[in-house]
This record gives sequence, C-alpha cells and structure tokens, in this order.
Amino acid sequence: MTPLAPALLRRLGEIFGDQRLLTDPADCLSYGYDNSKRTVPPQAVVFAQTHEEVQALVAACNEFRTVLVTRGRGTNTTGATVPIHGGVVLSLERMNRILRISPGDRLIECEAGTLNGEVQAEAAKHGLFWAPDPTSAGYSTVGGNLACCAGGPRAVKYGTARDNVLGLRAVTGAGVSLKTGCTTTKGVVGYDLTRLLVGSEGTLAVITQATLKLLPQPQARRMLRACYADVSAAAAAVSRIMGQPETPCALELMDGEAVRLAEEYQRTGVPAGTDALLLIEVDGSPESLEAAVAAVSTAASGPGLVELKAAATEAEAEALWACRKVLSPSLRKIAPKKVNEDVAVPVTRIPELIDGLRDLSRRHAIRIVNFGHAGNGNIHVNLLADPEDPAQMRAITACLHDVFRLVLSLEGTLSGEHGVGIEKRDYVGWEIAADTLETMRALKRTLDPLGILNPGKCLPGI
Ligand SMILES: Cc1cc2nc3c(=O)[nH]c(=O)nc-3n(C[C@H](O)[C@H](O)[C@H](O)COP(=O)(O)OP(=O)(O)OC[C@H]3O[C@@H](n4cnc5c(N)ncnc54)[C@H](O)[C@@H]3O)c2cc1C
Repeated sequence: MTPLAPALLRRLGEIFGDQRLLTDPADCLSYGYDNSKRTVPPQAVVFAQTHEEVQALVAACNEFRTVLVTRGRGTNTTGATVPIHGGVVLSLERMNRILRISPGDRLIECEAGTLNGEVQAEAAKHGLFWAPDPTSAGYSTVGGNLACCAGGPRAVKYGTARDNVLGLRAVTGAGVSLKTGCTTTKGVVGYDLTRLLVGSEGTLAVITQATLKLLPQPQARRMLRACYADVSAAAAAVSRIMGQPETPCALELMDGEAVRLAEEYQRTGVPAGTDALLLIEVDGSPESLEAAVAAVSTAASGPGLVELKAAATEAEAEALWACRKVLSPSLRKIAPKKVNEDVAVPVTRIPELIDGLRDLSRRHAIRIVNFGHAGNGNIHVNLLADPEDPAQMRAITACLHDVFRLVLSLEGTLSGEHGVGIEKRDYVGWEIAADTLETMRALKRTLDPLGILNPGKCLPGI
C-alpha cells in the first residue's frame, strides 16, 4: 500500500491534534477489523468530535485522493468497516452526545457515535423507546445502525432503522454538508435523502447526527412459546399469525436442528416430539393484552402444534426465551467458521424456503441450521462445514449459491439486516437489475465523485 502523503498527515494533525490521530501501525491495527473477522490495518485513524471536523477531513481526503472508511464500533458481520484499500479510518466513538430529547414530539437528536443502548436509556426515562433493537444494541452506534439499516426481533411490529429516522446531518463524499428530513413525522418537501443514506454502508456520506423517531413503551407484554412437530407446521403458523390483525412484537422461528442444538447445549424444557418452535411476544395496554394474546394463540394453533405455553411471570418469559439465547453460543461451539446468511422472503413463502433448504442440505451434504425473525421473513441460514476439509468448503460455496438462487426465486432478498459489505457485494447483481444498479452507481458518482468513501463495499464496481 502506498504510504499516506506527509502533507496529508500534517493536515490531519492540524484538524485533530496529536491526541485524536493514530499513525503507529500497532495503534491502527485494532481499527482494521470488524465482526467479519477480516483484518486490514488502516494507515491512520482519526477521532472526530464535530460535523465541521468531518467536513475538513473529507476535503483533505479528496485533495489527496485518499480512501476514508467510517467506523461506528465495527460490529457489522460483512467486512463493511475493513479498510481493504488502506487509507484513513474515521472513528465516531467520540461523537457520542445526546443533543436533545423532546417527548412531546417523540424524537431524540444525537451524534452518530452514540450507542443504541444509550439512546434507549435516555428514551426510557420518558417512557419511550427507539425501535431498532439489534442484539448488539449495547455496543453498536446509531450511525452504524442507520448505515446498515439494522433491525432486530421488534422490527416485525415497529420497523427497522429506516422506518424510525426523521432526519440526518451528513457530509457527502464530495464534502457537501447535508441536512435531510425534518423534525415532524410527516414531511414531503424535496427528495428523501434520509432514506437514500440509510443502508448505504458509508459509501455515500458520513452521517454525523440523527433525529430519531421514538415510540411509547408498551405497558404490558406476554411471551408465548409454540412447539410444532415439524418446521412446515411452524412456518404455516407464521403466515396465519401475520395474516390476522394483532401483530406480535417478536415472532422468532427455530427449526429442528436449531432446537436440538440449543437443547444439547442447555436443556430448556422443550417437549418431546418438537421439531420446530416459535417464540412469540405480544405487547400493548393491560386492557388490550388478553384479547391480543387470545387472537395470536388462535392463529398459532393448527395442524402439527405440540404445545403452546404462555409465560405468567417475567422469570417464566426468560425461561421460554432461553433456548433462543443459548443458540448462538452452541453454534459457535460446534462450528466456529459457519457461513451465516440473513436472507428474507415474503412471510407466505417461508414454507417453500424451508423445504428448499432441506433439499439443498441433502443434495450438497451440508448441515444447515435455520432460525430468525420469521415475522419479517428474515431467516438466518447457517451452513456448517469443517474449514479444514477442502471438499466441504467447495460444497458450501456451491450450496450457498443455490441458497441465494432459491431465495431470489421466492421473491426474497439476499440480506434482511446484516447488509452487503464485502461478503455479498459480488451477488448484488443477482438481485438488482443492471439498469437499476447503474442508476445506483450514478448516485454514488454524484455524491462521491472521486470514490473516496468506503470503496469496494456495498455495490459491485464502486
Ligand atoms: C453479537 C452481535 C449481534 C448482532 N445482532 C444484530 C441484529 O440483531 N440485527 C442487526 O441488524 N444487526 C446485528 N448485528 C450487526 C451489527 O451490530 C449492526 O449492523 C450494527 O448496526 C453495526 O453498528 P456499528 O456501530 O458497529 O457499525 P460498524 O460496524 O462500525 O459500521 C457498519 C457500516 O456502517 C458504516 N458506518 C458506521 N457509522 C457510520 C456513519 N456515522 N456514517 C456513515 N456510515 C457509517 C460503516 O462504514 C460500515 O459500512 C449484530 C452484531 C453482533 C456482533
């Protein structure tokens, strides 16, 4: 990699001072990895504290034709923050102030490096919450959540990051300062640049501040676990639940492999004869809850139901969630190098997806474990293989390609929430038509003409 120009380093020193600029390779190393487990060290790391500093940084990177990779906390799973071409990493970890909260307007304004969990804690003081609830909420940033359009179990009822942001401050790759959106929940003036930037993985602009939409916390909730004799019965129940008016605030599916793995790791009381289960949470006011639980229970009941259990207390609810929570550690134990995809299909096509995955597992002799946010049709498909076995590693790639073909044939999408990064960049053209893709590249050229922002991520050919 070509070293950074001394004049650029001097400029970075002027903008950030010695305390907020790292150039020693040993210091830079820990800003070159993310949760994809890839690592490429950047040549410099800077810690911005203001929008104006970000603007000055983008101007300098343009002047010296230097790559700039924006980083929240590096929890993404797709290599999106790995500086594969070197250059400068902009860490927003010190831009983490909550600027204001207005309960009456149901909004909060914060800097992009604020942690999701810090927003939730501030909102909770006023009986409010921000809907995006990735499992990483305690250590991922609002900027990262927006740039990846993060979601979580609650998205089935309350939506993802894209549905819960009112406006942004940002600096484009061309160095233009943007203020997008407004502070009201209605607003139709101008193009919707907010939604363009959400999910763009740091390739169009650096988000510096966000105005987030808050929602009132539900006053009551009830947890249900529905166990089924087979995964097709569970998948059919998901369609029935989503086809009636009471939307649960979580609707998670685990297939038979996932249930067995979780039970092997730690027994959580799943009854014999279970080969798939749904974890369902219903929320609302104390007055409306019983009727909502009854409606969802009726929809969950049907052919193949083995047991439907409702938690009477918080402790019982925790016990029902337990088998979902032990799943990740149990998977990590048996397959440290699993391929974890997060495809999504329309809810009514989940049964076809599950049947198709079973066929592919048999055909390629690859063990596949499925679980995830079924209410959004967002299934985490885990392909397990021994990384030391070249034949299995070849089979896993062929199997993965067939999984993607299957998902697209069902009108699905290759990523529901984890994004593209490097991992899925070369498959984007499988889903998005050439003309549409070219329009996206034209937008990239407009907002980032020299292509300095996070090159090699998100779209092929940028
Ligand atoms: C244990 C664990 C559980 C997870 N669970 C979920 C889950 O349930 N749902 C889910 O959706 N994801 C989940 N994730 C993935 C990840 O946490 C999310 O994608 C999260 O939104 C990333 O936030 P971050 O601050 O770590 O961003 P980073 O990983 O640092 O960055 C992600 C991308 O956003 C860009 N970016 C970051 N900040 C900005 C900014 N201010 N302006 C412009 N671009 C920016 C980066 O360049 C990069 O392309 C999980 C990850 C882990 C490790």
